[in-house]
Amino acid sequence: KPQQIAIDGPAASGKTSVGKLLAKKLDYLFFDTGVMYRLATYVALQKLGSVEDEDQVTRITKEMDIALRVNPENDETEVLLCGEPVNESIRSSQVDKNVSIVASYPGVRQTLTEQQRKIGLLGNVVMVGRDIGTVVMPDAALKIYLLASPEKRAERRYQENLRKGIPSDFHEILMDIMKRDEIDSTRVLAPLKAAEDAILIDTDYINQEQVVERILSIIEQ
Ligand code: C5P
Repeated sequence: KPQQIAIDGPAASGKTSVGKLLAKKLDYLFFDTGVMYRLATYVALQKLGSVEDEDQVTRITKEMDIALRVNPENDETEVLLCGEPVNESIRSSQVDKNVSIVASYPGVRQTLTEQQRKIGLLGNVVMVGRDIGTVVMPDAALKIYLLASPEKRAERRYQENLRKGIPSDFHEILMDIMKRDEIDSTRVLAPLKAAEDAILIDTDYINQEQVVERILSIIEQ
């Protein structure tokens, strides 16, 4: 079995759900790198009110006190900010709108990439993000890249919000997703793209369980 599994893909492509399920089936550690960029954005917005000042945002990212813990109750990996579990506030539309700008700052990426590599070294890990197969764990034995149309991804995010009781607007989600894709794939450092040795999975017409089944069958081959 591969010890490091990298899953990348655009916003709302199902990386987190697929990665979590896969990690559970393999009994691996799950880590979502998007949480780190969201945390940096959340803290910057709280402290500065905006994310425009690259130097300040970079400083805040470097000073952020992040830790990981496996919750013994449900075996899920939890991220702690200053010792407290991170909650849904990092998924607000305010964070959605600003996170790609923060993620385009080289100093922010360097800081977070370094921390992510250390987590990767723990082994038996499923790590998800935008640059895991290309930059964070370029030697990962298995790299998956998830594809889905913007409309399908917006629809899934919209349904997810409905389930959670979070009010949202389909068109706003679609615009946000397309804007994030644009910024994520055109930035200079570590742009969103599939690694050359990644296996592409189109998820438009298959559900998350089927994606996980496909990955498991690739591992067993
Ligand atoms: O995956 P998620 O949508 O939570 O990621 C939020 C944002 O964090 C992305 O739109 C991207 O700008 C940034 N990100 C990144 N590199 C990663 C993970 C996330 O640039 N490895």
